Amino acid sequence: MPELPETETIARDLHQMLAGARIRNATVLRADVLRTVTAAEFEHRLRSVTITRAWRRAKLVILDLDSGDAIVVQPRFTGAMLVEVTPEDISDRDRLYITLTVTLDDGRLVHYRDIRRLGTVALLDRDQLSAVLAPLGPEPLDPALTAERFSVSLRNSRQAIKKVLMDQQVLAGVGNIYANESLWMARIDPSRAAGSLSDSEAGALLIAMRDVLSASIAVRGTSFRDYVDASGGRGGFVPFLQVYGRGGLPCARCATPLVDTSAIDGRTTVFCWRCQA
Ligand SMILES: [Zn+2]
Repeated sequence: MPELPETETIARDLHQMLAGARIRNATVLRADVLRTVTAAEFEHRLRSVTITRAWRRAKLVILDLDSGDAIVVQPRFTGAMLVEVTPEDISDRDRLYITLTVTLDDGRLVHYRDIRRLGTVALLDRDQLSAVLAPLGPEPLDPALTAERFSVSLRNSRQAIKKVLMDQQVLAGVGNIYANESLWMARIDPSRAAGSLSDSEAGALLIAMRDVLSASIAVRGTSFRDYVDASGGRGGFVPFLQVYGRGGLPCARCATPLVDTSAIDGRTTVFCWRCQA
């Protein structure tokens, strides 16, 4: 499932490819991915508008339009935004799963394809977008999030730190992969109550999280199964994963076999009981 680095990669690519592009029209093939608008309304409001910017917030890809609307895509498990310049850009398999297509004035096509159709596409006006973004927590890479502020945000929680890291109202953009990786880097037991972390542990965790997220962005994210970028390419972070997907394998720090459990939050947690104690 695309988390911060993957969504950031998608948004940066789309910004580079689409900022300033004018939309001729949109066609909805499978309306069940749409939120907040009907297919007819989506097609109507996307006629002859210009994409001014593509950006990310949390795990959302947002395309601002000069009409004041924004297209907000949440790829979830198997969603992808694919830009088609020539027909060879889109594989036959991807083409089967296209749910909607935006045609640009320059002839390029922008598709949202989603294999399991658990992702969503919404068309929001300014107020609706503000309402969607308002409850989200700070961005982990935003320098305004200081170690002190991060530590304070954990202080009153008795929930497992791993679960709290993935709570989008506490911190935006982190999901299961990067929560596991950051906790291993910072040598913190994922099951510990968030409020039990000292200021220095919280500070170390924030640094670890920033290092992991930045390193993953640098290689365009982690590709498991169906995550691809806007050109159909895959992310390169899998070889750098220290714990996620490595249950039973030796810890890179101390060689103890990594533990694989779903007891903490129902999601797969992989950690080293020896160096994350
Ligand atoms: Zn270890």
